[in-house]
Amino acid sequence: MLSVNMEDVCLRPWKYDVEPFHIMGRLYDIGNSWVSVYLIDTGDGLLLIDSAMAQNVYLTLENVRKLGFNPKDIRWILLSHGHCDHCGGAADIAHYSGARIYLGKEDMFFFESRPDLIEYPFGYFQPFEVYANYIDGQPMTFGDFTITAVHCPGHTPGTYSFFFDLEEDGKTYRAAMHGGLGVNTLTKEYLTAHHLPMSLQKDYVENLRRMRMEKVDVPIGSHTNHGGMLEKAARIGKGPNPFIDPTGFARVIDARYQDFLYFCR
Ligand SMILES: [Zn+2]
Repeated sequence: MLSVNMEDVCLRPWKYDVEPFHIMGRLYDIGNSWVSVYLIDTGDGLLLIDSAMAQNVYLTLENVRKLGFNPKDIRWILLSHGHCDHCGGAADIAHYSGARIYLGKEDMFFFESRPDLIEYPFGYFQPFEVYANYIDGQPMTFGDFTITAVHCPGHTPGTYSFFFDLEEDGKTYRAAMHGGLGVNTLTKEYLTAHHLPMSLQKDYVENLRRMRMEKVDVPIGSHTNHGGMLEKAARIGKGPNPFIDPTGFARVIDARYQDFLYFCR
């Protein structure tokens, strides 16, 4: 998702730095106040979900260190979609650690022929090699951690969401991150100007309906404003784990559906 803040986030990433924090089990947040990056300790190397923007990489890597991990141990980067605020840091992180990059096949054409769709502002985007595409709904195992990528077209054609289990106090919780909810790329004006099919609007609404039925105990946002990630972080240690929020996933989806009706009809 992009907004007017994006320019300043790219030009002055240090202003948006956030202390990394533990969410639950093997899951940590290492993103900034604009866009989320998640670190998962797989037991055999580190996995990242998304990479933030290229300009933020030094802060992303520093957040890995602050948690006591070595950024050289990042082995896999799972990208939610092909917008630069999610994938822009992937090239440099992979260059540093040797990580393998995964992306939805339906966004591959952004990098092959349509760089305008990557939405990279302010002149800095490093190309990267995609190691593999997701197979919709098929669990992938990294170390002893299993994660499933689910195709959620709309925000981009190749947006994928991630589902996985976390353990805390002997209980198992189902966590999920919707990979792309912004309606900024779904207005008639945007789709027309970028020669994208209007059917992405239908894909988006159908996907929201399908995702809304998912049972999610620990919703995590692809941006911090999805479900109030930083507000929850401020409540860590002051009672039950604030990230356990069984209605949060549906709440965010309902709000986005209202956005869609307002901006895209
Ligand atoms: Zn996006």
